[in-house]
Amino acid sequence: MGFVFVSGRRSLDFAGTRKWRHGDAPEEQLLSPADLSRWVEAAGLLDVVPPFGESDLATAIDLREAVYRTASARLDGRRPDQDDVTLLNDHARRPALVPTLRPDGSTRRSGTVGELLATLAADLLDLLAAPVPGPGRVKRCANTECTRLYVDASRAENRQWCGMSECGNRAKVRAFRRRQSL
Ligand SMILES: [Zn+2]
Repeated sequence: MGFVFVSGRRSLDFAGTRKWRHGDAPEEQLLSPADLSRWVEAAGLLDVVPPFGESDLATAIDLREAVYRTASARLDGRRPDQDDVTLLNDHARRPALVPTLRPDGSTRRSGTVGELLATLAADLLDLLAAPVPGPGRVKRCANTECTRLYVDASRAENRQWCGMSECGNRAKVRAFRRRQSL
């Protein structure tokens, strides 16, 4: 399973690890602690990924869902779920990941799962704290089946898709299946 980083913010990319949320077959990319490790590494958040356990995965997924619901609520002009507000604030106020500078001038990103989740929660809160409307607005992909959220950093603020190829490929597969079933 390939992870994609098209959202412009790590918190929204994280939310995107559960795909096609509204359809009858959502795709879960974080099925095991090893999947979470792979995502963290692919996201460039840590050079040294600590071993995650099942409870770390469960905590991470709880946070991820709170990120998704809260970003969606902002997009739709709704109040966020109060449990999500508490969860996000609890994570975001903890120490975040900070790279270590080494004597030779190189850096190393290491940290705990708590610091990792604090970083992701704080990333969302930073995003929500940005002035709205304005550049860098959070949007939902124009493909109605796609539930990926992203920051529109285009100058004209007219980005419509999460990533054309991914959504386009899915549309092609569906069209192909429809033809086969006729
Ligand atoms: Zn999309």
